[in-house]
Amino acid sequence: MSQEPEYEQIPASPDATEGEQPPNEPPPVEGDPLPEPQPEPDPETETPPPPDPPPTPITFEPATWYQVTSVCVTSTCVNLNTTTTEPEIYSNAGTVRMICGLCGQLRPILAATKLNPQPNYD
Ligand SMILES: [Zn+2]
Repeated sequence: MSQEPEYEQIPASPDATEGEQPPNEPPPVEGDPLPEPQPEPDPETETPPPPDPPPTPITFEPATWYQVTSVCVTSTCVNLNTTTTEPEIYSNAGTVRMICGLCGQLRPILAATKLNPQPNYD
């Protein structure tokens, strides 16, 4: 009595079960779901509010030294609305003109204080 085994040898082939599966790739992302961040104002470059104008017109005595506070009002200047105080400004003939060193425009004078005592530069 001899019986032959009837099972067949199936060669192990890893490629036999592949080729029909869809590619396992994520769908393409369209657009950006995240909203763009809003630019925040930088406090370092924020323009200060304009200063109050002087209550009365400022007059200068001729040939007198003053402490003068002025402000740049040029909208394109980085010194816009930035007040500066010069400790010693000579009035010459009684006319003081403050010029912004950055934009070259005339700076309105906000305040002037006659120096007391007057400096002696003879
Ligand atoms: Zn300026």
